[in-house]
Amino acid sequence: MIDLREISTSTSRYNFHTHTQYCDGRDTIENFVKHAVDAGFKHLGFSPHSPVIVESPCNMKIEDVEKYLNEMNHLKSVYCDRIHLYAAMEIDYFDNWGPSNDFFVSLPLDYRIGSIHFIPSFVNEEEYVDIDGNFESFRNKMNLHFNNDIRGVVESYYKQSLKMIEAGGFDIIGHFDKIGYNASLFQRGIDEEEWYLKLVRNVFDAILDKDYIIEINTKAYEQFNRFFPSERLFTWIKQYKPHVLINSDSHFPHLLNSGRESAMHILNNI
Ligand SMILES: [Zn+2]
Ligand SMILES: [Zn+2]
Repeated sequence: MIDLREISTSTSRYNFHTHTQYCDGRDTIENFVKHAVDAGFKHLGFSPHSPVIVESPCNMKIEDVEKYLNEMNHLKSVYCDRIHLYAAMEIDYFDNWGPSNDFFVSLPLDYRIGSIHFIPSFVNEEEYVDIDGNFESFRNKMNLHFNNDIRGVVESYYKQSLKMIEAGGFDIIGHFDKIGYNASLFQRGIDEEEWYLKLVRNVFDAILDKDYIIEINTKAYEQFNRFFPSERLFTWIKQYKPHVLINSDSHFPHLLNSGRESAMHILNNI
């Protein structure tokens, strides 16, 4: 059984958040594996966006789950002398569908990431809206689904996060303040306001309480100069010392190690 907490304190090269053609990633699992081996990785975990209960082109289809698990088992045995491979998922939370559901609990996964990408629409509560996309799409949705109420959207994101944390069923919490990026493009400085920081702090405290592993997600660092959680929250990490993994959330093999050195450097300098 994989011990992510032990790996989090090791110096070997790893990534536990990787997307392939099973969801919105841009290459095959095996091409990621080959690249990781060449780049000296010792551990590589795959985390397709889980099947969800809404129409979503970015998520894995439920009928592909078995094929994915079989392919992972095959590649694990082919590459076992070169790299440790793990079959995981990045599971979405929708109140009645999420990491704690029997469907996900019963899957033979090596670990699970719990992430919020969808929140209920303010126009129709039954409808969940993906607020994780690029800013252009986020701005359109703010108008279409959320009456341009950015504070409401931020509050909903962190409320959904708390509910997911409470429900459990996962090991790593994915990019736990990611809404801060789109929100701060919508309204500059919003993620430095006192009420905002209080909401993130509540989520951080809940994570500590449950002893989940926090990831520092480096996906956007090279392009947008932002980590998830953002750099200003690294001081909390230093102070409270949760288990931390630095993950690139890579959708391309050549970005597997993107941002990692910078994140480690900044963490070490605090
Ligand atoms: Zn994600
Ligand atoms: Zn991801």
